Amino acid sequence: MSQRIEHTNSYYAYSANPSPERPALAGSVRADVCVIGAGYTGISTALHLAEAGLNVVVLESARVGWGASGRNGGQIVNSYSRDMDVIEARHGKEAAKRLGAMAFEGGKIIRERIAKYNIQCDLKDGNVFAAFTHKQLDELDAKRRLWESFGHTGIQMVDKAGMQRIVNSDEYVGALLDNWGGHIHPLNLVLGEAAAFESLGGRIYEQSAVTEVVRGQAAVVKTAGGQVTADFVVVAGNAYLGDLIPMLAEKTLPCGTQVVTTERLSPELARSLLPGDNCVEDCNFLLDYYRLTGDNRLLYGGGTVYGARDPGAIESLIRPKMLKTFPQLKDVKIEFGWTGNFSLTLTRLPQAGRIDNNIYYSQGCSGHGVTYTHLAGRIMAEAIRGQSERFDAFASLPHYPFPGGRLFRVPMLTLGAWWYGMRDKLGL
Ligand SMILES: Cc1cc2nc3c(=O)[nH]c(=O)nc-3n(C[C@H](O)[C@H](O)[C@H](O)COP(=O)(O)OP(=O)(O)OC[C@H]3O[C@@H](n4cnc5c(N)ncnc54)[C@H](O)[C@@H]3O)c2cc1C
Repeated sequence: MSQRIEHTNSYYAYSANPSPERPALAGSVRADVCVIGAGYTGISTALHLAEAGLNVVVLESARVGWGASGRNGGQIVNSYSRDMDVIEARHGKEAAKRLGAMAFEGGKIIRERIAKYNIQCDLKDGNVFAAFTHKQLDELDAKRRLWESFGHTGIQMVDKAGMQRIVNSDEYVGALLDNWGGHIHPLNLVLGEAAAFESLGGRIYEQSAVTEVVRGQAAVVKTAGGQVTADFVVVAGNAYLGDLIPMLAEKTLPCGTQVVTTERLSPELARSLLPGDNCVEDCNFLLDYYRLTGDNRLLYGGGTVYGARDPGAIESLIRPKMLKTFPQLKDVKIEFGWTGNFSLTLTRLPQAGRIDNNIYYSQGCSGHGVTYTHLAGRIMAEAIRGQSERFDAFASLPHYPFPGGRLFRVPMLTLGAWWYGMRDKLGL
C-alpha cells in the first residue's frame, strides 16, 4: 500500500478545526459528477452541485485542502489577476463586460457559505493594496474608478496620514482599501465547505490519486484502488495536477510561494502593526502579502520560486522582507514556514474549458484564486446543469502554451522574475 500523504507542516494544519480522515476509494462507484481535487475549485463545484441535488464524488490525492487552498495567504482579493481594463484591451468590450459582471461574486459566495454553514474560519473584512510610490498610488486610483464602473461601492483611497490607521509601517505612500475584500483561515474554510458538501450526501475519498481518465459518454476515472463512472468530470487539480492531462499541464506553470507565521504576539503589539486588522498586499510585481491570524500572529508571505522548487530556508527568504515592513519585530520568533504551489498562465487570466463536452476544467488563477475558485465552482456547476453562458464567458478566452515548451519555460520565467524584481527595486 502506498504511503499516506498528510498536510504540510503549516500554521494552518496546526490550527485546523477537527476534520475526519476520509477513506480511499475502493471498488467501483457510480456518480452524476466526479470531481478530481479537493481544493476550493473542486469542493466549491461539488457543493454547488450537491445543493442542486446531484450525486457527486470527489477524489483527492492527499487530504481535503492539502494543496494551495489549505496553504495560502488567506486574502479575499476581488476581481482577477488581470483586471477588466486589460481584458478589454486584449479581448474586447464584451468580454470585459461579461467578466466584470462576475468580478466581485467570489467573495460574496465565500461569505454566503460561511454564514449558511456556520464555518469557523476567522473571517475579517478589508483588503489593502499598499503603494510604495505615487505612480503605484495613481494606478490604484485608476483601479478604484474601474471597479466602481463595474458596480463596486465599498472602496476608498487612503493617503499617507490615513495609512497609520491601517498599517504601522513607513514603507507606503498610500493605499486602496477594499471593504468587500477580507481574510480567512483558508484551510478551515475548505474543511467547512467539505463538511457542508458531505452533509448533503456528497462523498469524498482521500488518499485517492486519479491515475487515468477514460473519456466517453460516461467517463471512467481510475485510481489505484477503484474507479468512478460519471456523466461529467471536473478536473480541479490546478498546480498539483501533474501530467494527468498533458494538454492542461502545457498551458500552466506551477510556481512556489512561501509563507511564515510568527509566534503569538501580544494583542497590543498585533494591533499596533495592523490597527484595522485588514490584510495587505503591496503593489510590486513580486509582491509581499500579510495579515494577522485569529490568534494574533503575523502571517507574512512573498517570494516566488519559479518551477515550484522547494526553498531551502523559507525563514531566511521571508524574514528580511517582514523586517523591512515591520522593523519592530526584530526580536520576534518565526514558528512556521511553508511553501505552496499556485498555477501561473501566460495571460495571468484563469483558464476554464471543456474536453469532449463532459470533462470540465478550471485552473491557473495566477496567485489570485481564493475568490475566483469559488466563482469557478458556481459557473462550472451551472454549465453542467445546462446554463453555460457565464462559464462560456471564461471558456471563450484564448489559452496559450508557455513558449519554449517544458524545458525552457522555467528558465524564461526566472529571467522574467529577475527583470520584474529589478523593476520593483528601481520603482519603474
Ligand atoms: C502560498 C500561497 C499563497 C497564496 N495566497 C493567496 C491569497 O492570499 N489570495 C488569493 O486569492 N490567492 C492566493 N493563492 C492562490 C490560491 O490559493 C489558489 O489559487 C487556490 O487555492 C487554488 O485552488 P484549487 O482548488 O484550484 O487548487 P488546490 O487548492 O491546489 O487544490 C488542488 C487539489 O487537487 C489535488 N489533486 C491534484 N492532482 C490530483 C489527482 N491526480 N487526483 C486526485 N487529486 C489531485 C491536490 O492534491 C490538491 O488538493 C496563494 C497560493 C499559494 C500557494
